This record gives sequence, structure tokens and C-alpha cells, in this order.
Amino acid sequence: MDQETLDNLIALLKKSLTETKIIIKQLEEQSKPIAPDNAIGRLSRMEALNTKTVSEQSLNAAKLKLNKLIFAQKQLDNGDYGCCIECSDEIPLARLELIPESTHCMNCIDKSSKKT
Ligand SMILES: [Zn+2]
Repeated sequence: MDQETLDNLIALLKKSLTETKIIIKQLEEQSKPIAPDNAIGRLSRMEALNTKTVSEQSLNAAKLKLNKLIFAQKQLDNGDYGCCIECSDEIPLARLELIPESTHCMNCIDKSSKKT
């Protein structure tokens, strides 16, 4: 991997990290406990609860992504970035550009998806 490609991926990682942090903040606001407020009707409370569930699921996904992004940054520091943590093969560049926080090569993803 040449320096220009690496710089490009580092920029993608940073951008994704910033975006994910913003998303988490927004979702945390939305997943705050809903007060049993009589001022809002029964129906809108149901709607609020539905929104809360969706927000919590998205929040968990966003937190998982954030962890992966932080891990990818550590790999960058160690010089291990772009290598599969399972078999140390290089992760295809096209995949890294799409998902900069990728930790596994396609082979290992295939294997683990067949296991489950
Ligand atoms: Zn692998």
C-alpha cells in the first residue's frame, strides 16, 4: 500500500469516526427514558416508545462501529492496518475504501458467516 492510498484511508477513518460520534450523540438524546407524561396522548407515547427502540438498536450498532474505528486507528499506529486480524492476509483496498474499519478479509468473513 503506497503512502497516498494510506493517507486517503486515514482521512476516511477520521471522517467516519467524527460522523459516528455525532450519530451516537444524537441517538443518545433520542434514547433517553421517556417520562410518563400525561400531557402526551397514549398514541404519541406508543410512537415515542417505538422511536426509542429503533434509536437504541441504531445506537448499539453505532457504538460497535466506533469501537472498530478506534481499533483500526490502533492498527494504523502499529502498522498492521489493512491486514486481516484472523489470517494476516491483506484486506482488499476496495473493501477498506468502503468500510475503513474492516478487520477481516473476505475469506475469513465468509468462513465466520458459514459458521453461524
Ligand atoms: Zn483473513
